[in-house]
Amino acid sequence: MCGIVAYIGSNPAVPLLLEGLKRMEYRGYDSAGVAVLNGELQVVKTVGRVSVLEDRLQEKPPEGSVGIGHTRWATHGDTTERNAHPHTDDRNGIAIIHNGTIENYASLKTALQERGHKFDSETDTEVIAMLISEFYDGDLEKAVQAALREVRGAYAIAVLCENEPDTLVVARKGSPLIIGVGASEFVVASDPTAIVAHTTQAFELDDYQVCKLTREGFRTSTLDDVSVTPKIQQLELDLEQIELGSYDTFMMKEIFEQPRSLSTTMRGRLDKRDGKVVLGGIGPYARELVRARQFLMTGQGTAYHAALIGEYLLEDLAKIPAKTEYASEFRYRNPIIVDGTVIVAVSQSGETADTLAALREASDRGALSIGVVNVVGSSIARETDAGVYLRVGPEIGVASTKAFTGQVLTLMMLSLFMARRKFMSVDTCQHLIEELDQVPSYIERILESDDQIRTVTEKYVNQENWLFLGRGYNYPVALEGALKLKEISYIHAEGMPAAEMKHGPIALITDGMPVVFIANQGPQYDKVMLNIEQVKSRGGRIIAVATEGDTEIRKHADDVFFVPPISDPLSPLLTVIPLQLLACHAAMLRGHDVDKPRNLAKSVTVE
Ligand code: GLU
Repeated sequence: MCGIVAYIGSNPAVPLLLEGLKRMEYRGYDSAGVAVLNGELQVVKTVGRVSVLEDRLQEKPPEGSVGIGHTRWATHGDTTERNAHPHTDDRNGIAIIHNGTIENYASLKTALQERGHKFDSETDTEVIAMLISEFYDGDLEKAVQAALREVRGAYAIAVLCENEPDTLVVARKGSPLIIGVGASEFVVASDPTAIVAHTTQAFELDDYQVCKLTREGFRTSTLDDVSVTPKIQQLELDLEQIELGSYDTFMMKEIFEQPRSLSTTMRGRLDKRDGKVVLGGIGPYARELVRARQFLMTGQGTAYHAALIGEYLLEDLAKIPAKTEYASEFRYRNPIIVDGTVIVAVSQSGETADTLAALREASDRGALSIGVVNVVGSSIARETDAGVYLRVGPEIGVASTKAFTGQVLTLMMLSLFMARRKFMSVDTCQHLIEELDQVPSYIERILESDDQIRTVTEKYVNQENWLFLGRGYNYPVALEGALKLKEISYIHAEGMPAAEMKHGPIALITDGMPVVFIANQGPQYDKVMLNIEQVKSRGGRIIAVATEGDTEIRKHADDVFFVPPISDPLSPLLTVIPLQLLACHAAMLRGHDVDKPRNLAKSVTVE
């Protein structure tokens, strides 16, 4: 779920482990710990931030150049020091860190208890430590393989053993794990951000693979001990991309990065002259896609909102039936997949467990699967038949911003790819491509009103209940605006279709309640204005996102954020920007750490 980092080499392990854990802090966690092997195991763990662990480690820094470090996002057992990782088994001096969840841990635990094992924690992870210890007879690699053959679930693990002071064993199934290869040293991590400062040569483990690392080299094998040769590749990640630079928070940095990140998303993919879209990743499936009878869009959280916009785009532009569903619901309701169904899995990390499960279910039932993900080589990218990467660079802010606009833009390109092969004329496509070209500079223009957006946010920041309303393409933007606000500022906010408000939620409107309307000049502008009046007459305060040049809106709204004029299908790429800024300012004004929102994890790898 959160962070794993491990080191074997000739440098002191602790500083490197701490640096790695700090780089992964953005993923969200509740406790942290390290184990260093130097003759014997030295384990230190704490609840709370990595800085608390760092302070504790300074009291008596463990020495040694083999170690493992973890940030935990609790899934089994409370957030306590006892449940924090590493977990140990004293019989054979085993220490383990684990990301993921073990599905059959309860039955394994009962069996282990019957065989006399005493558990210190409530975690599923401790079961793996005990199992490894049971299988251990002088060979850690073999013991790990044997233990993992018993385990069902998702894991990335790193294991140390006191009897083998110069060995680190790691393994994965369904949870990412990357091995950075240096000169006589290895840095292993669940996230490349923890590796790139040390080496850019790396390889990824595949599911059900184990890797034994020593200072002399490594051996990768399957759980049945068949050797495999991984491919070492260059990590495509700049340090600058994962550092704050002149910004105070990653979220703000990433909001401001959007003109550049979206240019990269489009680069080489839009052919203005011929009015068509070139998407190499799905090219080979073009005929199947064009013949598809329906598209199922799926995701969770922000990705779900992007998927919803994708549904509107596919139906509106490509005239193909599309439907969006939460992956978690789709997976367990025995869905009907007719012949000619395409499932589109949308996820920033490509590791979202709910989305992955939905994707597998749809694929098993015969759907063609397309991934719309950011992280190259992630599980969704690997398991789909084809896909289109967002190319927005690493997103560190927990509250997704540039990945959202990247997803919307990618789904827009996918829709145009389909549309031109079905009914759309060259002219229409050329016109939309010209407008898409303008999007980065339009976003620059919106970002110039950052100060005004901050001033407006200040006026309302003490209000505890907000509504976000929009219609058509901007209904999902209303959902996204509300989600942004609640996840980082902890203000209660709801998003919904503007028309739905009068069917119940209007009862909530009290004097002074902020209601954000996305009121761009699209086909439903007049209807939105009507809804604005309904709120206003009940005392609500109107904050509108409107189109530049709209002189009417000021008469109706208390405050207005303007965006440049653009065709309605493209408008979400612009209208969401002021809402991202509003949420970020609200959180900062309320004194919250926007990059470490409470209870949240960056990529949710548990169902
Ligand atoms: N399931 C494990 C636990 O609850 C690991 C959670 C994680 O991925 O951080 O401790």
